[in-house]
Amino acid sequence: MQSGQFCVISLGCAKNRVDSEEIIGSLVKNGYSLTAELNEADLVIINTCAFIREARKETIAAIKRAARLKKSSSARLDKIVVVGCLAGYYRESVIKKAIPQVDHVVPIDNYSSIPVILKNAPGQGRARSGVTKLSRAGSSSSKSIDRFLTGPPHSVYIKIAEGCNNRCSYCLIPSLRGRLRSRSIDEIAAEVRAVQRLGAREIILVAQDTTAYGLDYYGRFMLPELLQRLCALNGEIAWIRLMYAHPSHVTDTLLQVMATESKICKYIDIPIQHVSDSILELMGRKTTGKDIAALYHKMRTIVEGITLRTTVMVGYPGEGEREFEELLHFLEQHPFERLGAFIFSPERGTAAFGQGKPVSAEEASRRLHLVMSRQKEISRRFNKDLLGEKVAVIIDVPARKGKAAHARMPSQAPEVDGRVILSGASGMEQGTLSMARITAAGAYDLMGEMADNEPGQ
Ligand code: SF4
Repeated sequence: MQSGQFCVISLGCAKNRVDSEEIIGSLVKNGYSLTAELNEADLVIINTCAFIREARKETIAAIKRAARLKKSSSARLDKIVVVGCLAGYYRESVIKKAIPQVDHVVPIDNYSSIPVILKNAPGQGRARSGVTKLSRAGSSSSKSIDRFLTGPPHSVYIKIAEGCNNRCSYCLIPSLRGRLRSRSIDEIAAEVRAVQRLGAREIILVAQDTTAYGLDYYGRFMLPELLQRLCALNGEIAWIRLMYAHPSHVTDTLLQVMATESKICKYIDIPIQHVSDSILELMGRKTTGKDIAALYHKMRTIVEGITLRTTVMVGYPGEGEREFEELLHFLEQHPFERLGAFIFSPERGTAAFGQGKPVSAEEASRRLHLVMSRQKEISRRFNKDLLGEKVAVIIDVPARKGKAAHARMPSQAPEVDGRVILSGASGMEQGTLSMARITAAGAYDLMGEMADNEPGQ
């Protein structure tokens, strides 16, 4: 049994966070103890993000900070391990040449071997209560997976697959995280049962493209079946949320399951990126503006009261004023309750790198600003429609010292969407599900007061 204190710096997306939690779990199981303080650690795991230049800059800065600490004679830090997307972007030798204090670079599929890689580390560690133990039900090799939840235990991300086969022209992720690798339904169900025992009430399904789930493992789209299996589980899970859907992989069956299963939040995160056919083609999105419009109406028709979150990209090479106006007009005619927007980032190693006539940084940020300022009013309009309504909520941050509680509706995902500032919730614990009446509406956040638990007016 190895020992020592370790710290994890987890950068990037929710999928990285799940990976970090599994790495923590396996190190704690191997005798290490976790600390949140880098300067109290013998070992630091840096889970990196590299999908765009800005993310790589932030990642390299984090590694350099740890390297500086390791160099300082008074520091306790002895080992630096780099994992995550940067390990897929640069070869180990390149990273070690640039930052010699890095001891190990571990690619995504080798995380389970980290304790072995570190086997010469000094001391003993204690196991902490947050670890879940799972066995890969139904698969030939029974391999235990440990996970140490670092976020609020009532709301847990579940990674249902790794990698992506879509190869959108601007995206590095397939080359950083590899081809689609779905987990088995049995394994995911076992993990959900385990986090449920730790108090999970909401599970958030994540992957690069959740709607492609099963294509590799089962040879066909299996997200509807996975959702039905998770809905059939007994226990406290009340909300199942779907993130990162791809517009060309949303099926009628999926929408019908979302419409009929009460545990599934009537909410979907579905990045469309753009609606102009010429830009969608350049992006390699395998869909058209007409298809997206048809899907938009189908989602609103089949799943009553659905909340739509999307992401759009502006400044893509070849996006002229006409294509941009087309996007603005579409978002006006097909409003999304939730929307995030990004400026195209040319990434070496993608098909889009050096493709087409670039849009100036100034013009791209003008377009970004225009999309987001219009979206602010669209979001405010949707929020105003909720005034006086009674809605289901989950408490994220309990009321403390005269401060109101922070809660969310099924139509609000953690970390990316607004919240409900809730009065009259004193004594209600984190993870409590209840009803609230909306009393005020901002562009993103809402104000509410506790209401009796009877659904409806
Ligand atoms: S769907 Fe496209 S944008 Fe999303 S991870 Fe896959 S290749 Fe990248």
